[in-house]
This record gives sequence, C-alpha cells and structure tokens, in this order.
Amino acid sequence: MHCPFCRNPDSRVIDSRTSDDGLSIRRRRQCPKCGGRFSTIETASLNVIKRSGVIEPFSREKVMSGVRKACQGRPVTEANLALLAQEVEETVRQTGSSQIDTNEIGLAILGPLRNLDEIAYLRFASVYQAFDTLEDFEAAIEQLRADHRSARTVEDASSL
Ligand SMILES: [Zn+2]
Repeated sequence: MHCPFCRNPDSRVIDSRTSDDGLSIRRRRQCPKCGGRFSTIETASLNVIKRSGVIEPFSREKVMSGVRKACQGRPVTEANLALLAQEVEETVRQTGSSQIDTNEIGLAILGPLRNLDEIAYLRFASVYQAFDTLEDFEAAIEQLRADHRSARTVEDASSL
C-alpha cells in the first residue's frame, strides 16, 4: 500500500492490534521516506451471493437494516442491532467459507433475533421463511411456547 502522504510504495509496520471481536487486525504503519504515520485494517474477505446472483461484500449494516424493519415498535436499540449483526458475522465466518448466500445469513439471524425479541423474530421469520398461512405462524408460536415450557422446567428443577 502506498503512503497516503508521499505515495512511497513502502511502509513499515510499527504496531499490530487485533480488534476486540477478533475479526480484523489494525496495523499502524510508518513511511520510511516522509515519516508519515497511517493505519490499515485487514479483514478476511467475506462475500455474499444474493438471490439474483450478484456478489457483494458482507455488510453488518445490511444485516442491521434487514432486522431493523422487523423490530419496528419493539424495545430493541441500535446497540442491540449492532451486537446481533456482530454475532451474525461471527457465525457465518465460522463456516470457514469466504462466500455465503443470503439464505445462510437469514438462518444466522434467526437464533440471536429470537433471544432479542420474539415478536421481531416472528415477523422476520414470516418474511424470511415465507410463511403464507396462519398455520405457519401457529407452528412457529407453538415452538416458542414449547421452548418456554422447557426453559421453565429447567428453572423449576434448579430451584429445588
Ligand atoms: Zn510517505
């Protein structure tokens, strides 16, 4: 990478730091020619194959905007959304693949969204999994109820 100040093609790494989420490395560099200092951020590339076949870089912002729609009127903050998007990115990166399709992102969203807000989860799942009958909603709600019951059983057992 060229020095942004004098265009010298060489630079020296003076510090490297891994981000808190472990997904990127920030390198502090110094140009040996003009002494200018600058930073570079290195991340493994992760691309998304859209249904249309178009390939674009993974974007947490896109995950957030997709989920934000499902969260309208719900007690979900921007910080919650940012955390969810980070979790989604970690999940899809763990697959070890540098190209994923939108379907895998949808799947990775369902779990954390469900923990965040069940109504938003049902809304998102209804679009993502293309619910088209009331029975689809009933089945999803029944699943949530069943999980609540088993969670309660565990709590009861632990309070004995
Ligand atoms: Zn320079």
